[in-house]
Amino acid sequence: MASKEHRRDRGTPGAPGRREVPAARPFGYNRSVAGRGKAKGKGVRVVVRGRVQGIGFREATVRRAAALGVFGWVRNGDDGTLLVHAEGAEEAVDALVEWLGEGPRGAAVAEVEVEKGKVEGHEQFAIRGIAAGVFVVQEHQATAHHWDLRLEVDGVMRSWAVPKGPSMDPAQKRLAVQVEDHEKSHNDFEGRAGEGGVIVWDRGTYEQGGRVAWPEALERGHAVFVLHGEKLEGGFALQRTRPGEKPQWLLIKRKDDAARPGSDVVAEAPRSVVSGRTLADVVAGD
Ligand code: MN
Repeated sequence: MASKEHRRDRGTPGAPGRREVPAARPFGYNRSVAGRGKAKGKGVRVVVRGRVQGIGFREATVRRAAALGVFGWVRNGDDGTLLVHAEGAEEAVDALVEWLGEGPRGAAVAEVEVEKGKVEGHEQFAIRGIAAGVFVVQEHQATAHHWDLRLEVDGVMRSWAVPKGPSMDPAQKRLAVQVEDHEKSHNDFEGRAGEGGVIVWDRGTYEQGGRVAWPEALERGHAVFVLHGEKLEGGFALQRTRPGEKPQWLLIKRKDDAARPGSDVVAEAPRSVVSGRTLADVVAGD
């Protein structure tokens, strides 16, 4: 199944006895496809071990991938490793993998583990696992009761009104009506508003995900992101189903370790993460 290659203890650059890495394609697959000159490319998943975090490795990988025309992502692993998904023309992907065996100045790569991966259709090479900004969900009693999901994009809060609220159950697709952008300064607002009121139902940071760079992903109508809130956690998708004056989207929890099938988080955790009050408390003036 997965083809793996381990390379160990390659020593420091220029040191005596340093073993040369074979220049030929070391991960022999897709040769027949490439041989026809109509390669749809190849994908690899790479784990880089050694002193690879805290030295600019991710940024350098992005620059090298851009120079080679390779797409995918790089992220720091929880265990001190560097994780890479790379896809593109076979020779370009191989060249990136070779470079990962050296890394940027300051890196000391002990081992590079390569597995065959899927070609997923990435259109960028992005750093994953880094917060793109803040998010907030404000429960809002106005003419209608809803939850406003707001994601920071380029300094403003892109906003969607979700009548049933977000769900941690991937089977629950929640209508999300895109509404006007809000200022970041509104994120902390909690209190009475007209006859109704607002509470800060959840907040935190989020990562931009998916195969397409933001904000273009939003413009195209399919945006994937990872929330790190007090109640909402893990991957979500916003999928536009109807464009127009008030575009309609679906907010869907992605299937991951944070998903909780069968749960109803807005009912189970109704209180403000700021004050502990419920929306009813705020509307009643308590
Ligand atoms: Mn609202």
